[in-house]
Amino acid sequence: MSLFTTIYDVIVVGGGHAGSEAAAASANMGAHTLLITMNLQNIAQMSCNPAMGGIAKGQIVREIDALGGYSGIVTDKTAIQFKMLNKSKGPAMWSPRAQSDRMQFAECWRTMLEQTENLDFYQDSVNGLLFDENKIIGVKTALGLEIKAKTVIITAGTFLNGLIHIGDKSFGGGRAGEGASTGITEDLVKKGFESGRMKTGTPPRVDGRSLDYSKMIEQPGDEITEKFSYLPTSKALTEQRSCWLTYTNLNVHDSLREGFDRSPMFNGRIQSTGPRYCPSIEDKIDRFATKDRHQIFVEPEGWTTCEMYVNGFSTSLPEDIQDKAIRSIEGFENVKFLRYGYAIEYDFFQPTQLKHSLETKLIENLFFAGQINGTTGYEEAAAQGLMAGVNAALKTQEKEPFILKRNEAYIGVLIDDLITKGTEEPYRMFTSRAEYRTLLRQDNADLRLTPLGFELGLASKERLDRVIEKQRKTDLLINFLQKTSVKEAEINPILKAKNLALINQSMKLYKIAARPQLEFSEFNNIEKVKVFLEENNIDREIIEQAEIHLKYAGYIEKEKNNADKLNRLENVVIPSSFNYSKVKSLSYEAREKLNKIQPTSISQASRISGVSPSDISVLLVYMGR
Ligand code: FAD
Repeated sequence: MSLFTTIYDVIVVGGGHAGSEAAAASANMGAHTLLITMNLQNIAQMSCNPAMGGIAKGQIVREIDALGGYSGIVTDKTAIQFKMLNKSKGPAMWSPRAQSDRMQFAECWRTMLEQTENLDFYQDSVNGLLFDENKIIGVKTALGLEIKAKTVIITAGTFLNGLIHIGDKSFGGGRAGEGASTGITEDLVKKGFESGRMKTGTPPRVDGRSLDYSKMIEQPGDEITEKFSYLPTSKALTEQRSCWLTYTNLNVHDSLREGFDRSPMFNGRIQSTGPRYCPSIEDKIDRFATKDRHQIFVEPEGWTTCEMYVNGFSTSLPEDIQDKAIRSIEGFENVKFLRYGYAIEYDFFQPTQLKHSLETKLIENLFFAGQINGTTGYEEAAAQGLMAGVNAALKTQEKEPFILKRNEAYIGVLIDDLITKGTEEPYRMFTSRAEYRTLLRQDNADLRLTPLGFELGLASKERLDRVIEKQRKTDLLINFLQKTSVKEAEINPILKAKNLALINQSMKLYKIAARPQLEFSEFNNIEKVKVFLEENNIDREIIEQAEIHLKYAGYIEKEKNNADKLNRLENVVIPSSFNYSKVKSLSYEAREKLNKIQPTSISQASRISGVSPSDISVLLVYMGR
């Protein structure tokens, strides 16, 4: 049955973080898009922690924003606390993080999507896929509808055959209070896809009115707040809500251990792998048995709600054990539970089955994005969603795919890692995964990506103009610093205050500004600097750009050179369906892996585990190099 007469350009299945960005991107690129999701009230629902950003993830949100995605704008509009993490380290490590109002976040996303042209919505559950040979042509829904499309993006998150566990209870579900999704995995497996199982977990939510904050340590947001979106319409927070820090103790651990025999993690009911870097509390006390306490951050779920997220206490132990153990945490003696913690197992698909465009290798016009690809985290999901949305739209316009390189964006690193290496456990981004992290900073995502987003038709002219102006002013300031000298009398008081060696002749400002011990703001009282900044309307963002440029010029140059060298290998293209089995001088392991992954370039081949430098030399000879 089909009540839908339209053949859509793009159907997005699932309105989570990946699906929402995918729908926005494809619709904004002019593709007639339908977002089908199980519950229209839960668009971009934060299943776990009500926070966006954090180490490496904050960079991703800024990249999404720079390209013209919505996650940064929504986060700014709904934030209740902001922190720039790692500010004491170099700028490559600075990572913005914001706590969000969970309910406002979902509402704001829905409003933004409703204001997007070319985008239709439909609430139903997709339970089957329509194929014409090895092409997707639409979807089937639980209500029995068939809806046709040129391309389909699946972003089903943790819902595919989702199984929720609390203690010895297990039941089907995609997230607390929501049903699982069935039919999609089965249809894909019939077409030859390889599926696997992963798991993740979430902590209890409690009534903030039942907690004793006098026993906890207040964690306020940053005094100087920043924002995620580069758009001037997005504003940094002026008011914030505090979080609170407390700790587990040996009594808490003993109570938790009492439930281990009923834990689905330890009694074998959960077999699948969970996120290594977000372990459950039972996992932490088991793996780090000598540690007598673990941090617990108590985080408000919004501006007005009393609901608190107990960060660090993710668990699937039985309710009575959760209840008893948590009461031994300082400040939680009289706690009232709103929701118990739980774990969930779900299907994922090895991302090595995808091309760089996130289109599947087996079925043309079918794209996967988000947790279905073995990742964890809203930011990782949103980034893939945006890229899948862009590439599905480009496919319908018969244009080449849009692929970001590893030296251009964390999004490039994320997708390249996934499709080249696959993942055996939920994949999350870290700065250490990016070999060019000095280039991929949160402060310059707009300079790196907005011109590309504009070319695609995704980032607005307003964004591009802002980037051009930012670059112009940064160059102007650097030029001023390079040309302008300061006298001893102007600079020595600043150096003296910092116990630094004084100068005995006038010196160019850029040489002094490059010193790691000095911050540019310390020069603001030098008259000629003050006048220049005022006359040219130079703000903090521009000063930061110029300062990073001067202080880290050596590192930036080195990474650019390395990237250029690697990009030369990126240009050595391997023809599609190249038969590695015929190349007997390749190692057996390399042949097997190369045949499976089918890399598109020598550079990608070199990143596959099991492919050695000598295998690469062999391939280079074959490619005529
Ligand atoms: P989701 O946000 O899960 O969205 C999927 C959407 O698709 C939902 O709206 C759903 O209704 C819809 N949908 C699914 N199937 C269908 C269908 N067949 N038809 C129509 N609509 C469908 N991340 C972390 O980084 N750290 C954590 O500690 C963490 N813990 C988590 C704990 C739990 C219990 C859960 C559920 C998730 C956790 N996550 C965690 C993961 C985080 O929520 C996801 O990474 C992120 O939400 C993935 O985004 P997504 O868009 O891929 O999927």
